Amino acid sequence: MARKGPFRVALTFDAEHPDRPSTTGVQERLLEHLAALDVRATFFVQGRWAEAYPETARRIATGGHLVGNHSHYHARMPLLSARGLSSDIRAAQKAVIEATGVDPRPWFRCPFGSGAGDQRVQRHVREAGYRHVGWHVAGIDWPVERTAADVEASVVDGAMTHGDGCVVLLHTWPDRTEAALEGIASRLREAGAEFVRVDELAPELVPDVQVSDVPSEFV
Ligand SMILES: [Zn+2]
Repeated sequence: MARKGPFRVALTFDAEHPDRPSTTGVQERLLEHLAALDVRATFFVQGRWAEAYPETARRIATGGHLVGNHSHYHARMPLLSARGLSSDIRAAQKAVIEATGVDPRPWFRCPFGSGAGDQRVQRHVREAGYRHVGWHVAGIDWPVERTAADVEASVVDGAMTHGDGCVVLLHTWPDRTEAALEGIASRLREAGAEFVRVDELAPELVPDVQVSDVPSEFV
């Protein structure tokens, strides 16, 4: 099922405090692995995570990856007040700049994608100087019952089906994500894919909301 290349795939990783079991050092190994594979990607960085792991956060930027804002507290943003929204976005921005040296504007992703379609939330996101980035394909790398092979299959099949300009959702902390990288990179490249950062795609190709439906048992 080789797709007629070339087509561009933007892997995106939410860099955040793990909310499921995760092996110490896996986020650093993920960055080393991406470098070894010569894959540039986009990282949405949680402010409090950047405060806790400033060296790892800095390595994202020095590795040539695009840095975005993934909120400070990783709350479901529709639950926040107007003041809460603007202070959360700005706190994350400050923490990300301090750790990475890079201004994450204009790239923002709501935790869980929650609030992507919420006009009040998005007004605050825009007023803070951001645009929201959703995804076309979810690697579904967070459930404990998923294997690296499952994640690889979701990403490869999803990107091949979507074609050029595919934005893929992944996370930095699951062991299975790091384990799936090799297969994702080699199989997609074999099919003609080129890995790009979100800022290399035309703005209208970057989805504002999550297009893929994650099966309800995984939400
Ligand atoms: Zn997240």
